[in-house]
Amino acid sequence: MFIIALTGGIGSGKSTVADELARLGAGVIDTDVLARELTELGQPTLDDLVTAFGPDILTPDGELDRAALRARVFADAAERHTLEAILHPRIRALMHERLATLEAPYAVLVIPLLFETNQHHDVDRVLVVDTTESLQIARVQERSGLSADEIERIMSSQASRAERLAGADDVIENNADRPTLMRDVRRMHDQYLKQAAADRS
Ligand code: ATP
Repeated sequence: MFIIALTGGIGSGKSTVADELARLGAGVIDTDVLARELTELGQPTLDDLVTAFGPDILTPDGELDRAALRARVFADAAERHTLEAILHPRIRALMHERLATLEAPYAVLVIPLLFETNQHHDVDRVLVVDTTESLQIARVQERSGLSADEIERIMSSQASRAERLAGADDVIENNADRPTLMRDVRRMHDQYLKQAAADRS
């Protein structure tokens, strides 16, 4: 399988690009979606998180309170490492399991922390969705209501734009409107179809 890793900073447009690639026929596996599956009510990973962080990370219904957990881990690097040590190996295992059964011309793995977790060596190409920091903040604020401060804290815990761009094979600039983004995604898809076909032959 020809494998693309899709990454970018918070609010850069990863999910939007991934959804369009999926619509065009790519096999998309999103590690954020896997993280949600793993931490659903009744999953052993949720119990392990409660053991590590205490019951304050649960809503009154016993589900994971993502906002509470996010606030904890972005305020404290040690807690962030604890969370990553619990989650990342399980996400990776599930990702490989899904990859093995994927039927598509090529695969797209959406991995927000691709460089931070050193997974960029394991794929055929790295696609970075890049946008200016002010657009990242504006888009995330509009979507989630996080404060600019919180968003900046998350951004400073992630690889910088320059680091990501240095590791990219392909870049989609997402600084314009949606139609422009969709056109660029289609171009990328066409390139990947050709490269995947060449890889198979
Ligand atoms: P996160 O890291 O938080 O998961 P992401 O990188 O997956 O974010 P998206 O969710 O795709 O980013 O995009 C962030 C927000 O910006 C969304 O609300 C999305 O609809 C919007 N958005 C993305 N690209 C554009 C664009 N070119 N024009 C207008 N809005 C956009």
